Amino acid sequence: MPAPDILRTPAAMLAWSKTAQRDGHTIGFVPTMGALHKGHVTLVERARAENAKVVVSVYVNPTQFDNPDDLKKYPRTFDADRALLEKAGANAIYAPDDTAMYDPEARTWVEVGELADALCGLSRPGHFRGVCTVVTKLLSIVRPDRAYFGQKDYQQLRIIEVVARDLNLGCAIVPCPIVREADGLACSSRNVRLTPQHRQEAVWLSKVLREAKAKIAAGEREGLKLAGEMAEQLEAHTSGEIDYVAVVDALNFADLQKIEGEVLLALAVKFGSVRLIDNERVSVPVKT
Ligand code: AMP
Repeated sequence: MPAPDILRTPAAMLAWSKTAQRDGHTIGFVPTMGALHKGHVTLVERARAENAKVVVSVYVNPTQFDNPDDLKKYPRTFDADRALLEKAGANAIYAPDDTAMYDPEARTWVEVGELADALCGLSRPGHFRGVCTVVTKLLSIVRPDRAYFGQKDYQQLRIIEVVARDLNLGCAIVPCPIVREADGLACSSRNVRLTPQHRQEAVWLSKVLREAKAKIAAGEREGLKLAGEMAEQLEAHTSGEIDYVAVVDALNFADLQKIEGEVLLALAVKFGSVRLIDNERVSVPVKT
C-alpha cells in the first residue's frame, strides 16, 4: 500500500477531496481521535470495501471534552496510527492542529436538542455540542459520500444521523457493529488506561448487557426492573462507579416502562478516572 497523504489544514484536505471527486472517485470517511485499535480498523476496512478512496481523520477535538484532565490524558499515538492506517489501506489522513481546526473568532455551534441531554449527555454537559460541531465541520472539509461510525458510541451515532438528516449534509451515515476483545470488553482507546484489576472487572459491562438481552429474550418486559438488576450486577462484581444504566427507546432515548420496539440497553461506568461505555440494541416485537 502506498503511504497515505497527510493533510494538516482544512484547505489542503478540501483540495485533496475535490481532486479525488473530479477524478470520479467516491470517498469514504472515518472520523477518529486516534490511538487506533481494531475497532477503528474495521471501520476503515468497511470504508475501503464501499468507496474508491478512504480518508481517516485523527483529531482529539477539545470542544467535546467536558473534563480538562480527560483531554490531557487522552492517548496520542500519531506515528503508530499512521503505520496502522497505511497497513489498513487509507488514502489520506486528516490531522489538523487546534488552530487549523478552530478559528479564534469561531462562534457557531451545532446543537441537536434533547437527544444530547440523555445518557452520556447528563454527566458530560456540552459533549455532544462539541461532537456535532466537529463532525459537521469535518464533513464540510472532507465532503465524503459515506461516513462510518461505530455503534460503540451509540448515542453519538444516532445524534449524527439526526444532524446529517436535519442539515442535509449530503453524506450517508453508515453504522458499524461494536468490535470487542476476546473476553467481550468493547475495544476503546481508553482501555489502555485501566489498571489490571479494573481491566478484569470491566468485562462485566458486556456480561451484564448480554445477560439483560437474554432476559428480554426469555420474556422480561419491565424496563425499570431490568435496569435495576443490571446496576445490581455491576455493583456486585466491580468496584466501578456507575454513571448510568439505561433501558431506553433506541431512537429518542426515552425511558421505557415496557420493553418493546427498538430498545437500547446502555451503560457507563467509571473506573478511577477512566469512563467506559457499552450498549446492546435489541428489537422486541410489539404485541398488540
Ligand atoms: P474515537 O476515536 O473513540 O472517537 O472513535 C472513532 C470511531 O470509531 C467512532 O465512530 C467510534 O464509535 C468507533 N469505535 C470506537 N471503538 C469502537 C469499537 N470497539 N467498535 C466499533 N467502533 C468503534
